[in-house]
Amino acid sequence: MARTNRQWLLKRRPEGDIAEGDLAFVETPLPETPDGHVLVRTLYLSLDPTNRIWMSDMDQYMPPVEIGDVMRGGAVGVVEESKDPNIKVGSIVAPMMGGWQDWHLSPGGMVRPIPTIPGLPLTAFMSVVGLTGWTAYFGLLDIGKPKAGETVVVSAAAGAVGSIVGQIAKLKGARVVGIAGGAEKCRWITQDLGFDAAIDYKSEDVGKALDKHCPNGIDVNFENVGGEIMDAVLARMNNFSRMPLCGLISTYNDKGDRRGPSNFQQILMKRILVKGFIVIDYMSEFEKASMELAQWVLEGKIKYKVHVEQGLENAVSAVKLLFNGKHDGKLLVQVSPEPKV
Ligand code: NDP
Repeated sequence: MARTNRQWLLKRRPEGDIAEGDLAFVETPLPETPDGHVLVRTLYLSLDPTNRIWMSDMDQYMPPVEIGDVMRGGAVGVVEESKDPNIKVGSIVAPMMGGWQDWHLSPGGMVRPIPTIPGLPLTAFMSVVGLTGWTAYFGLLDIGKPKAGETVVVSAAAGAVGSIVGQIAKLKGARVVGIAGGAEKCRWITQDLGFDAAIDYKSEDVGKALDKHCPNGIDVNFENVGGEIMDAVLARMNNFSRMPLCGLISTYNDKGDRRGPSNFQQILMKRILVKGFIVIDYMSEFEKASMELAQWVLEGKIKYKVHVEQGLENAVSAVKLLFNGKHDGKLLVQVSPEPKV
């Protein structure tokens, strides 16, 4: 019987917000599995702000998705056919180069096995013990280097990365202020995650609120958002403070030039260390970070949320949630059921 694969193809580069028709949902024949390859059934697709960057042709850290190609995206799946003697049927793996599709054909050497840790669901390996957890871990600890008693500010604080940043900073003894959109997100990070204060940027003056909650200035700014929020934080940073530049989500849908900080001179005057990073820079240390993050989760020291939308066909409507904030936790799409154990 002919096998088919449902795929999302990039049809044109979005102008501003992702729009109907930028991607097309198609069915294509699934080729036979070549020798040395595995056929992986997608279980979960990871939706990330960087998907919007990959859809564009702006200068970026890896080549953009070409028009007509399958949309790139992190994924975890189960091996249904294996022509690689080293990989067993039934293994749970992450293809190195995942995509928005039901099936991945991949060389056996290009899939990463997902470990099993009792007490952790598979979705944990796509969030807190996966890319977004690693992003928080390395950006904060390798660049931000918070010390006990220092003040750490994190934007997109209730999101997949920001919520973990704040909790690790608390474990290191810092005072943590999160900036998030809406009362419920602010309540979650303070009452459930233990942040010292939250600023609702949708209803508060961020500058005034920072003055109130950071009376001794800011020692670490974990920057996820950019734009006016970044300007307000930068203006209050201390001498020799650090700023891991993780993301600039408020600018990803902008057309044309994207503006930088309006108060660039602050970096000179306050001798601030600003360092951009991409989590894959730390690939050789992922395992070490996973062990520590998993331990913290199992000990109840770090909490996390995943927001799972159902059905590959809903990937485009789901990815938009990252830009309007109407998701609650690490955004995933469940593409097919997890195998029964
Ligand atoms: P989140 O789960 O944080 O979702 C994105 C959140 O960003 C939304 O929920 C919303 O939160 C906030 N947001 C969206 N648009 C705006 C805006 N215009 N102004 C202010 N806030 C906005 O996603 P991630 O945790 O995956 O990503 C957070 C950041 O980290 C992104 O910038 C992303 O690009 C970056 N990142 C970088 C990586 C790296 O390797 N450097 C790896 C992974 C992520 P709210 O509801 O609070 O407004």
